[in-house]
Amino acid sequence: CLKMAEEESQEFKLKVNSELRFEVEHKASAEIEMIEGSGEMFGTELAKNKKYAFVSGSKVAIYTWHGCVLKLKGKTEVAYVSTETPMTVYVNTHAALEQMRSKAEEDSTRGPRILVVGPTDVGKSTLCRLLTNYAVRLGRSPVLADIDVGQGNMGLPGTIGALVVERTADIEEGFLNTAPLVFHYGHKSPNDNFQLYNMLVLRLAEIINVRCEQSKKVNSSGVIINTAGWIRGAGYEALKQAAGAFEVDVICVLDQERLYNQLKGDLPDFVKIVLLPKSGGVVERSQAIRADSRDSRIREYFYGLKNNLFPHTFDVKFNDVKIFKIGAPSLPESCLPLGMKSQDSQTKLVPLVPAMSLLHHVLSVSAATTVDHDIVETNVLGFLVVTNVDMDKSVFTVLSPSPRPLPQTILLVMDIQFMDIK
Ligand code: ATP
Repeated sequence: CLKMAEEESQEFKLKVNSELRFEVEHKASAEIEMIEGSGEMFGTELAKNKKYAFVSGSKVAIYTWHGCVLKLKGKTEVAYVSTETPMTVYVNTHAALEQMRSKAEEDSTRGPRILVVGPTDVGKSTLCRLLTNYAVRLGRSPVLADIDVGQGNMGLPGTIGALVVERTADIEEGFLNTAPLVFHYGHKSPNDNFQLYNMLVLRLAEIINVRCEQSKKVNSSGVIINTAGWIRGAGYEALKQAAGAFEVDVICVLDQERLYNQLKGDLPDFVKIVLLPKSGGVVERSQAIRADSRDSRIREYFYGLKNNLFPHTFDVKFNDVKIFKIGAPSLPESCLPLGMKSQDSQTKLVPLVPAMSLLHHVLSVSAATTVDHDIVETNVLGFLVVTNVDMDKSVFTVLSPSPRPLPQTILLVMDIQFMDIK
């Protein structure tokens, strides 16, 4: 066994401005240790002689500005060193943002708001992580927002959210999202309920504005916004709406000249639009892998990245909660009450009578305390999965990160399902 472990260990000597890229095999793990020099992963510095573990399917790049020696152990699908990276362009972008932050700090105004856009698999999330980390390393506290409902980096897939970042991302676990602000959307594509999506993006932006007004430091640090890779048709409209909602100053377009030109033509001149190259290391993901990664994200919420959390399972009486979904099927305008548009039904709260159809659905626990609240625009506290419905006893069983009782009793149903099979 020891021999095998030895065989699997590889050493890489990285020269200046190069990176080691690797992908951890499915159902395997890998470990990296920096034994000399200095290196960073998506903007977070590695500590020397510390072992970092990566779970199945992780796609990692360790970059070095000055050279380092790395020891890689475990099962990796590919592991190679590349000297072709866009890191210099990215760090220059960061430097330009930093100038805007310094100016904002001096003038007590708002720091840069950056929207990161581009097609799927160009490294949008990674660039957001990098820019956020670099800002934090200089003592800033930017807001990182994510409006990519397919991944749901702040909450679960089917949500959008934001958090104030005060520490660099953990190498293994990413940003600590202990208190993110999360809104329930319920679907995995913005197209499923376009109206609701845009409304929630606007709401998120409003709350971020309030947060910025409360702290001079957060305000001058700015906002970094990650978007979905949906850039055509309504997806493009959604990006423009988001740019307006967040009043962005800068748009970083990754790897698509067409989108860059389109935005340049459509947005006002004060929005600075920059075209950035993608990294050759970003790996393309098939639809199947995306679905898998959504599933892992939900599993991780309940069980932890390394199976280190222990969720609870308990029964909830139908009578003890109120369940809603957002958006009624649209009716032709002629069937609606006078004055109501069919769009309005998309953002309407619809009460649900508990039924077998709830099984396996993800539920968001709303922070709203009464039904008189504007539940659609209220943030959520956490998530449950329905693992059983007993119509005879009028109870359903939930998987929950915390023991009973539920923190609140207004629940919102997602389209998204999760099967709790290991
Ligand atoms: P999506 O379209 O799903 O939103 P995206 O454009 O945000 O994707 P990322 O999630 O940033 O892309 O990157 C895709 C994958 O590639 C991630 O698993 C990330 O860890 C990996 N990755 C990013 N940069 C590199 C790199 N330089 N080398 C190796 N892997 C990388």
